Amino acid sequence: MKRRTKVVATIGPASSSKEMLKNLIQEGVDVCRLNFSHGSHEDHIKVIKTIREIISEINYPIAILADLQGPKIRVGTVKDNGVELVEGKELIMTTQKVEGTAKKVSITYETFPQDVKAGEKVLVDDGKLVLEVVSSNYKDEVVLKVLHGGILSSKKGVNLPNTSISQPSLTAKDRKDLELALQYDIDWVALSFVRSARDIIELKHLIKNSGKSTRVIAKIEKPEAIDDLDDIIKQTDGIMVARGDLGVEIPMENVPLIQKQIINKSIEHAKPVIVATQMMESMIENISPTRAEVNDVANAVMDGADAVMLSGETSVGKHPRAVIDAMNKIIMRIEDQYEELYSKDIEPVKNQTRFITDSICFDACRLSKRVGAKAIVTMTNSGYTAFKISSQRPKARIFVYSGNKKLLTTLSLVWGVKTFFYDKMVSTDHTIEDIKYMLKKEGYLAQGDLIINTASMPIEELGSTNMLKLSSID
Ligand code: PEP
Repeated sequence: MKRRTKVVATIGPASSSKEMLKNLIQEGVDVCRLNFSHGSHEDHIKVIKTIREIISEINYPIAILADLQGPKIRVGTVKDNGVELVEGKELIMTTQKVEGTAKKVSITYETFPQDVKAGEKVLVDDGKLVLEVVSSNYKDEVVLKVLHGGILSSKKGVNLPNTSISQPSLTAKDRKDLELALQYDIDWVALSFVRSARDIIELKHLIKNSGKSTRVIAKIEKPEAIDDLDDIIKQTDGIMVARGDLGVEIPMENVPLIQKQIINKSIEHAKPVIVATQMMESMIENISPTRAEVNDVANAVMDGADAVMLSGETSVGKHPRAVIDAMNKIIMRIEDQYEELYSKDIEPVKNQTRFITDSICFDACRLSKRVGAKAIVTMTNSGYTAFKISSQRPKARIFVYSGNKKLLTTLSLVWGVKTFFYDKMVSTDHTIEDIKYMLKKEGYLAQGDLIINTASMPIEELGSTNMLKLSSID
């Protein structure tokens, strides 16, 4: 598939059969997301094994992303499938286990009575119900006043945008889910409700101690994360604009500009960024998207996101294949006609440790624009040059060659990158000629096309990229 912007699809009951998964992957899904807020470990293991089977059959890489729930707060069960909360009335939230009524309901957040202050807002069910804290007994009960009522049903999510939450970012459940993700060598792990760069450091520490190379995505959905955005982007490997909870935790009208800021900063730091939630929401039911949804996907592509994400649309929706097809069309049209998307020209900083490599990547992209090269080819073991070249958003295609199989699947998330397995590192000249021959034979390039190669010399030392070559296809 020629499109540069990647598609992340959440896998669930509507998409977990082998037949449907294969259809979706062949339709264009680049990354399969497993949402650990739902499903058992057995369910997730089955999907992981099926995806791996499909990868070996189709012979091209697909990434898997495990999305950890983080400290998600919920109400407990409520009687009669839901009770009505009336504006002006009081509701008690308790840390004790009770069957919920219109007067009292359980909350899964143990230290809620200690952390909360009078006047703070409590939002339930994506902000459909709005309550305000009246008082707390600092032990197990908080009295709230209903500001905006409606039906409260079991297990609905709770957002506390004003409260300084003392719960750890990685819960006991997250640690168990992480263990499974690491055991199965998942490419990317996303952490929900990240509040500071320290949350990412802690998660990376656990991954490193397990000896795995799984990369981390910070989900930005808390106001504290926006305050600490620069440090979070420095520490993390990737970012998700998690608009579902973000639009509840901060005023929804702030989200569009924050989306653009997060994307710009992520690109500057060469960290892949995903735009998530409600992109094609109406297609959970309908066969085609609303005009507003088409514009939303198109705008995320124009903003420069590495990937756009589907949640309910592919996990429980009625038309998973049609969603991917619609997204393909929108992305391709924008990439074809929106020239501002390309050539970011982000100059490398002189005193940074990888200045030589960064300069080669920067100049490869600049040169590709000036001469109209069709492709930039990089050979990499760590993936560093793939991330760097992609972040410049060149119009030339980005072909990445690596002998590191894990890296090939991981890079499926990254804008514009197409990967190939290659482990015959004979000499720089021989490898470049070999790759050019294969790219022509497989129809990616034609006689007369200009191509730029970056590599490290001498190649057999697998050192840092320090060389740039411009040549044409014979
Ligand atoms: C979101 O809140 O936008 C999000 C992606 O998180 P989740 O789907 O896990 O709620």
